Amino acid sequence: MKKYKIVLLSGDGIGPEISEVSKKVLKKLSKNHNFDIEIIEKLFGGIAYEKYGTPAPDETLDQCKKSDAVLLACVGDIKYDSLARELRPESGLLKLRSALNLFANIRPVKIRKSLLDSSTLKKEIVEHVDLIVVRELIGGIYFGKPRGHITNTQIPKAFNTMIYDSAEIERITEIAIKIAKQRNKKICSVDKSNVLEVSQLWRDTVLNIALKDKDISLSNMYVDNAAMQLVKDPGQFDVILTSNLFGDILSDLAAMLTGSIGMLPSASLNNNGPGVFEPVHGSAPDIAGKNMANPIAMLLSASMMLKIGLNEEKAAENLETAVDKVLSNGFRTADLADGSSKVLSCSEIGDKIINEI
Ligand code: NAD
Repeated sequence: MKKYKIVLLSGDGIGPEISEVSKKVLKKLSKNHNFDIEIIEKLFGGIAYEKYGTPAPDETLDQCKKSDAVLLACVGDIKYDSLARELRPESGLLKLRSALNLFANIRPVKIRKSLLDSSTLKKEIVEHVDLIVVRELIGGIYFGKPRGHITNTQIPKAFNTMIYDSAEIERITEIAIKIAKQRNKKICSVDKSNVLEVSQLWRDTVLNIALKDKDISLSNMYVDNAAMQLVKDPGQFDVILTSNLFGDILSDLAAMLTGSIGMLPSASLNNNGPGVFEPVHGSAPDIAGKNMANPIAMLLSASMMLKIGLNEEKAAENLETAVDKVLSNGFRTADLADGSSKVLSCSEIGDKIINEI
């Protein structure tokens, strides 16, 4: 029997509620698909700060490094916003990404038929949406140096550096190619090469690699146009490849095409070593502790973990089908409620999904 060791980081806010559902779901899947899964729970985020004075304790990071995969719920709360930047829960996320060298962030955006009416866009615009955003995650302007404030001038100034070397662009392009090959083989690389030198290097490097691969059809788009096209005709995209800053913004935009942030999973990967699988949403402090959260984004993240991280494809499919079945039977959490659906709590919808597995 295959044995896996995963680390579960429940974090803050709604994290413990959606993690509870995820644990039960993983246990049932492991039983049904004949594998053993050890779930090691560690503190991370605000809750880790409370106990250890840091959002990403070494012990947590070490355990993550030794695991087969990391499943993360969410971190953050307004009460930590006044802490020094490096002590805030969100800084723990950057530390985890750096520690595991997670340079590739993968966000699938797929419209589920039963939720077509939940999108703020017209049905005919979103019905064919099935795209993946591949975002570079540990380079670019979020990490570039020098950065800082200049205070010894007449008016205060601040600056950041947007920098990539070609090796960083090559490795994320290879990931996008690998993913595109399992899909429609179309990559749209998004940059701002009409204005930025760093984007020109991005475009030239992507082109160089993609041209060598006859299977791949590559197009380029400026980021402002990409934002417009995502709203105008999102069905045209298969794989969107982009840098850290542009990917951060475009993936949130793409995420909302599907209706609720409570539905969207993501994976952060490197070439070898454990990946981190997590919902796109934050800790939703406004509904934390009320058993109202939608656990599906975390369950779909667990499905990505099973498929990409553990190679348990059948179990992943089983979970996705169970989620679709429950939604098409008209069950929803409050964030997705429409006049005709039956609204369930976080744990209730979790139980419905478990029954379908
Ligand atoms: P958020 O994603 O937590 O919430 C935005 C809105 O969506 C809220 O109304 C919330 O109730 C709702 N929502 C989010 N997830 C939901 C779910 N699963 N089910 C139902 N409704 C859901 O974003 P925010 O309010 O801007 O941030 C709250 C905290 O989360 C902040 O401290 C922020 O820094 C942090 N955050 C963490 C992550 C992460 O852990 N990866 C990501 C984004 C924000």
